[in-house]
Amino acid sequence: MKPIYMDHHATTPIDPMVLQAMMPYLTDIFGNPSSTTHEYGREARSAVEKARGQLADLIGAQEAAEIVFTSGATEADNLALKGIGFHSSHGKGHLITIAIEHKAILDTVSKMQKQGFDVDFAPIDASGQVDLEALQKLIRPDTILITIQAANSEIGTLQPIAEIGKIAHERGIVFHTDAVQALGKIDIDVVRDSIDMLSISAHKMYGPKGVGALYVRKGVRLASQIDGGGHEHGFRSGTLNVAGIVGLGAAAELAKKELQSEAPRLRKLRDRLIKKIEANLDFSTLNGHRTNRLPNNVNFSFAFVEGESLLLACRDVALSSGSACTSSSLQSSYVLKAIGVPDSLAHCSIRFGLGKSNTEEHIDYLVDLLKKHVVRLREMSPLYDMAKEGIDIDHHQWGEHSHDEH
Ligand SMILES: *Cc1c(COP(=O)(O)O)cnc(C)c1O
Repeated sequence: MKPIYMDHHATTPIDPMVLQAMMPYLTDIFGNPSSTTHEYGREARSAVEKARGQLADLIGAQEAAEIVFTSGATEADNLALKGIGFHSSHGKGHLITIAIEHKAILDTVSKMQKQGFDVDFAPIDASGQVDLEALQKLIRPDTILITIQAANSEIGTLQPIAEIGKIAHERGIVFHTDAVQALGKIDIDVVRDSIDMLSISAHKMYGPKGVGALYVRKGVRLASQIDGGGHEHGFRSGTLNVAGIVGLGAAAELAKKELQSEAPRLRKLRDRLIKKIEANLDFSTLNGHRTNRLPNNVNFSFAFVEGESLLLACRDVALSSGSACTSSSLQSSYVLKAIGVPDSLAHCSIRFGLGKSNTEEHIDYLVDLLKKHVVRLREMSPLYDMAKEGIDIDHHQWGEHSHDEH
């Protein structure tokens, strides 16, 4: 038996309806959508344009032409940031973001910094939410872009994107949001929320891997990052991934249709999991915002238990932890670090990413498993015994050979 899948922030399986929509474009309908002198090409072209419309519909774009297909959200994020940076401002200018963005944003921003751009990280609170007043104060005459995610993939915290959009537009600044985790989970409307660019990934919403899109509001100018033939209005060259794009379109249509039913269902599962963990396991803390979070995200630190050991013990459920084994060391999550979770607790953190396949039974099974193993692993922890007795471990005097490590 395979483990119960509960890592839907990392990726999702292809929905059977999405696969069904894709199949003809992997077999009979193989034309190149740029070769419209014959029926093969025209069939492919019309499938791509249908998908463009389905995506525009999901995010409330006014025109399908505002959707640019890419190889995924990593490319979409790169195109958005470098595209703005190297078009109108010719390699100079000021960008504002936050420290808990996906690496596709952070690594891009850091490279741009080396190339001469100025970058500011707007402060966030302990739940990960951006401080809007502080954000406003960071804006400068040469600010060319604000990029802030719609939802965080580790702690699920939602950002006030409509407010950020309003601030950006009042000052004439382009606003980009990485909405990968949010689409299909919360309602997003690029016009209502004043969004100029928005990144999308198919495989995070029950579509195939290796395809995504960037919404680019009409009038926003970008420097292309991949050249060669001028596809996608010159924003992104390369023969289109027709089957992938059809899958992305079908996934978008499904996400829109299921938003009203699936998001509340997930929210119920999420709150059941949170409630049960808090009722059954002492010294466990919820990371992220209690209510203002993705309907499918739960993230807990279980003090006195090594996250990796807990993952191993709970291997009947596919989960991910708040630390990553690198070749040399065990590094704790930069997201947890940025919201002020101490290293000792970050290493005890587990992310639960709920999805379509998960049920109430899964939640109850998982909680039983956690109970059993957290209790067992804590039996080996002298620190846990002390904490239970009410000893303040952080300020405890460890005898005469101790030294203060702060
Ligand atoms: C997964 C993810 C990405 C990267 O998307 P790919 O399509 O896998 O390149 C970007 N941003 C966020 C928030 C993600 O979760």
